[in-house]
Amino acid sequence: MTEPSSDRHGTSPPWPPSDPAIQKVFEGMLEDGSWGRYHGPHCAHLRQKLADLHQSEFVTLCSSGTSAVELALRAAGVSDGDEVIMAAYDYKANFANVVLLGATPVLTDVKQGFPVPDPQQIREALTDRTRAIICSHLHGCFAPVSEIRELAAQHDVPVVEDVCQSPGAIHDGVLAGTAGDISVFSFGGSKLLTAGRGGAVVTRSETFHQRIRLYTQRGNDAYPLSEMQAAVLCPQLDQLKRCHETRRERVRQIVEGLGDCKEFSPVLNHAEEDLPAFYKLAFLLDHDSREEFCSRCQRAGAAVFEGFPGLHLIHAKRRFRALGDLPHATALHNNLVMLHHPVLLQDAHVIQPLVTAIKLAAERI
Ligand SMILES: *Cc1c(COP(=O)(O)O)cnc(C)c1O
Repeated sequence: MTEPSSDRHGTSPPWPPSDPAIQKVFEGMLEDGSWGRYHGPHCAHLRQKLADLHQSEFVTLCSSGTSAVELALRAAGVSDGDEVIMAAYDYKANFANVVLLGATPVLTDVKQGFPVPDPQQIREALTDRTRAIICSHLHGCFAPVSEIRELAAQHDVPVVEDVCQSPGAIHDGVLAGTAGDISVFSFGGSKLLTAGRGGAVVTRSETFHQRIRLYTQRGNDAYPLSEMQAAVLCPQLDQLKRCHETRRERVRQIVEGLGDCKEFSPVLNHAEEDLPAFYKLAFLLDHDSREEFCSRCQRAGAAVFEGFPGLHLIHAKRRFRALGDLPHATALHNNLVMLHHPVLLQDAHVIQPLVTAIKLAAERI
């Protein structure tokens, strides 16, 4: 699935923002010619940074978050006839990746009111055919990866942790991307770390890493990330913590500002000491005209969009196995809206007009 381009986010500040550190990188690449080479220092540098941050020895850079998910599933050995468990509210391409490998997605319900998998549901969905579990941190919420990994380990099933929306987030003192067996990152054009395109797979397992190497290294790299992409990502990793702090502060202001807006409740599941990352800020909208609400927001300058579709509602039933009726995922399919992140790095004074625009849009429906 292609991420929305900037015109879909017409009301958002430009992304990526202009940044002197990136300008310096480009100037350096022009001088030393590294922008046009197959091999150079930048990919190695980025790999090292990702490895250090996640205290994981094995990092594969690749062409997108979507290919990272594919590689992670291949590393887990997913193939014809297997089952892969995932939440029914998840990124669409994750479902497609499972199908691509000849496996069946097993869709489980989310925790009520949150875009994250429910461990109890996953426990029930496990069978002899389960080959992997995909666990995605979505819209600033934390998926209970440690809990799910614990129960998966009893069945010797690896957990693929999808960190595409939340690099650098910390839950229960655990950095996102270090709780699962294999974690996947995206550097797509709208993401918090961006090179326009790109992705990474991070793991502590040499076996998984070797499988990925075997698949991608064909005398040439079949899923490459370029030196140019790696070069612009390095300074962004250095700035990530500081950017996350600003975004969290803006989210606090928005949530406080919306306070008593009864049609509209924020979807957050972090504890006080957690450090969530906001690629999207999700809300549940308590009335039927979501489309109209979103276009009113957009016309008023707030980049608010409908959330993901429920995977059980957009795919033919023969494509997947569902655990029950998935009512909570259906509720998110119908009622979730999300604010796109670029505004969260803006100065504090943009928040009040944003809150007013959202409140007005909710009232006028
Ligand atoms: C964006 C995203 C992906 C895919 O990343 P691309 O680089 O766009 O292929 C996968 N999972 C989640 C949760 C995402 O948000």
